[in-house]
Amino acid sequence: MGNIYKMGKNVRGYSVGDRVAVAPIYGCGKCGHCISGHENLCNDVVVFGTNFNGGFAEYMLIPEKGIERGVLVKIDSSVPDEAATMLEPFSCALHGLRKIGIESGDSILVFGSGPLGLAFLLLSKRLGAGKVAVIARVREKLERAEEFGADITFITEKKDWMEEVRKYFGDSGINITITAASTLPVLEYSIELVKRRGKVLIFSGLPTGTKLILDPNYLHYNEITICGTIDSTIDDYKRTALIAPYLGLERFATHIFSLNKIKDGFETTKDKDRLRVNINIMENSTK
Ligand SMILES: [Zn+2]
Repeated sequence: MGNIYKMGKNVRGYSVGDRVAVAPIYGCGKCGHCISGHENLCNDVVVFGTNFNGGFAEYMLIPEKGIERGVLVKIDSSVPDEAATMLEPFSCALHGLRKIGIESGDSILVFGSGPLGLAFLLLSKRLGAGKVAVIARVREKLERAEEFGADITFITEKKDWMEEVRKYFGDSGINITITAASTLPVLEYSIELVKRRGKVLIFSGLPTGTKLILDPNYLHYNEITICGTIDSTIDDYKRTALIAPYLGLERFATHIFSLNKIKDGFETTKDKDRLRVNINIMENSTK
């Protein structure tokens, strides 16, 4: 998130001083994935902060190809700076929900109450979900989910949690289960708990080499769909920016550090209570 300081002479559609955020990936622009708008799957994907320097600096150069692909996204004045820093993770959650095909009134169970679990909660509600439940291992992790509007929360440390989940959703069942926690049992429970014709979104990556044992007949006879998503597209990012004014994303900025305290910022990412640790390049104060 920043303001445009200078522009190349061929750049159109922006002005010096515009508030912009940067969709952090763009593709080659030529392959089938790029042409169909799925640059997140491009073999030659370019990632800001990986292929070249990212945003931990006072000035950041956006390459011409990035500008051409549309990575610079104007941010509405109603979206605070610290909220705009959440566009990237939210765009990944939106990507998942768009692919899984959320429908009005869908009941949803989100595994995980970290920033991404909460992103799925807020976006599902915004996109018209019915009941949205969040499940985590410990009580403390669920308090924010309750603050952020979860209809109910469940704790897996309780022995009969699966029964409680089934009882809560009742005969109408769970349309969509989402894994926003990286363990194999979470994925297995997601498949077990979803209703017939339900859909399972594998969002969190699992350790390399993880294998899932599946009964194909279970999927076949129950018409269950399992799909995975990774990252987001520039279109997802732009759409996230458009709904950002309604999501209260600034609530995620639990810590803000100045650039000269960036090491403390990284240390804070180990803090279990943190949601988003932001680095404010322009300030030397620590919040
Ligand atoms: Zn490509």
